[in-house]
Amino acid sequence: HIPMTFESGLYVVATPIGNLADMSQRAIDLLNAADLVAVEDSRVTGKLLHHLGIKKKMRRYNDHSGDVERESLVAAARGGVIALVSDAGTPLISDPGYKLVRSARAAGVPVFTIPGASAVTAALSICGLPTDRFLFAGFLPNKAKARAETLTELGQVKATLVFYEAGPRLAASLAAIADIYGDREVAVARELTKKFEEVVTGTAGELAARYAAQEPKGEIVLIIGPPADEVAAETGDVDAALQEALGTMSAAKAAGSIAKRFGLERNAVYARATELKAK
Ligand code: SAM
Repeated sequence: HIPMTFESGLYVVATPIGNLADMSQRAIDLLNAADLVAVEDSRVTGKLLHHLGIKKKMRRYNDHSGDVERESLVAAARGGVIALVSDAGTPLISDPGYKLVRSARAAGVPVFTIPGASAVTAALSICGLPTDRFLFAGFLPNKAKARAETLTELGQVKATLVFYEAGPRLAASLAAIADIYGDREVAVARELTKKFEEVVTGTAGELAARYAAQEPKGEIVLIIGPPADEVAAETGDVDAALQEALGTMSAAKAAGSIAKRFGLERNAVYARATELKAK
């Protein structure tokens, strides 16, 4: 492996969310090349660097850091390779970095991504809930009233909802979800990429009972499927599009075109097309 060279700038570097083997080669090369690594917690990143056999100067940084510290990192990135990492996963995703990236961009300092793991996308990719539209909303508020308000507001959104959650709060959150959303399908993705990785699905009520009986350990992503009317609306859209297509082409041609457009089984769409024609 020939290590890459990097031009100067701010590099936002994803690190693993549990399995150290998920560190990308480019992330390793960048950390090796970095003049300075901006970190959330030097103990956590220190362990990762030690595991990789990399010795680097680290500087603590988060979004509460002052303008002076931020400007100093931006200035350093103008003439050097500055890495930004968080404790795990992708920086800025419920983690520090937003203000730093914004400042660097405003100052005309190049900002590069070294992408990799994030618990949001890892959970969505295996939970079996719709992924075509999702809204990631970070952590739900701690207090019951604020949590209910947030859930009510997001209940209008016609998309899969994704939250970060903590074991001790999970059962209460699920109970609130059952209360406000009824029986929308829910998935709890836990300990992703680690030894006890699991995804449990069911209705919010079922899962609230399960986790009230036994508090889950480890790190959790909570995913809520879209509202039922959205699923219906989607089928409605297909019907409308199919009707329109049937106005100008044969059932077979219409089925082919609509199946392709919506990513559906051609045979199923053809069957629906003949049904609609018969009406
Ligand atoms: N920036 C990170 C990312 O891209 O995934 C997330 C940082 S956030 C402060 C940490 C939260 O992410 C945890 O409390 C948990 O909800 C979720 N998380 C992180 N690693 C996880 C894992 N291996 N399995 C499930 N959830 C995880």
